[in-house]
Amino acid sequence: MNVNQKPPFTLPDLPYGYAELEPVIDGKTMELHYTKHHKGYVDKLNDALKNSGQKQEHSLVDLMRSISSFDTAVRNNGGGHFNHTFFWRILSPDGTKEPVGDLKNAINDQYGSFDRFREEFKKAATSRFGSGWAWLVVDADGMLNIGSTPNQDNPLMDIASFKGIPILGLDVWEHAYYLSYQNRRPEYVDAFWDVVNWMEVEAQYQDSLKEVGSTA
Ligand code: MN
Repeated sequence: MNVNQKPPFTLPDLPYGYAELEPVIDGKTMELHYTKHHKGYVDKLNDALKNSGQKQEHSLVDLMRSISSFDTAVRNNGGGHFNHTFFWRILSPDGTKEPVGDLKNAINDQYGSFDRFREEFKKAATSRFGSGWAWLVVDADGMLNIGSTPNQDNPLMDIASFKGIPILGLDVWEHAYYLSYQNRRPEYVDAFWDVVNWMEVEAQYQDSLKEVGSTA
């Protein structure tokens, strides 16, 4: 993903059509999510940066890492832009249905099996009260870690209580699933695995390991 983009930020292209992730994510939800919610974060982020009076040279990823020096509008809308840009990339209509490459081995080593890993992730996604995100991250030691963040925070933010480099994320705001699943967040989490782009998650894993100076 282009996390090196600089302001003014723009809505990235979706790598698939609105209805291509059906039945896991219905086309209407995808369209609203992308054209209304994500676009709203981009527009409000640009406005908030303009109004902040601070220099606007931060790349998107640097903005996350120094978010404590910005106000709440930048935090919420900047997080919203980063998180959704990230999210679209790790979804695919023709995913492999299970992890691949070194990440597959790391998941089995750390969690025992893909099933056990999914249980842990589901726990993080369903126990996040209200709106937020569940994440799989690479921590400073190159280990996998599962957790969640509230609102549009993410594990890159310097103020985050759960930190690391995200390689997989799930939007658990109701706007992400309400039309198809209503209040049944656990069903949405279970269905999510069918549309994960594990090739991209593996690529993010390799990049993250390099960044923390670890090897698989
Ligand atoms: Mn969302």
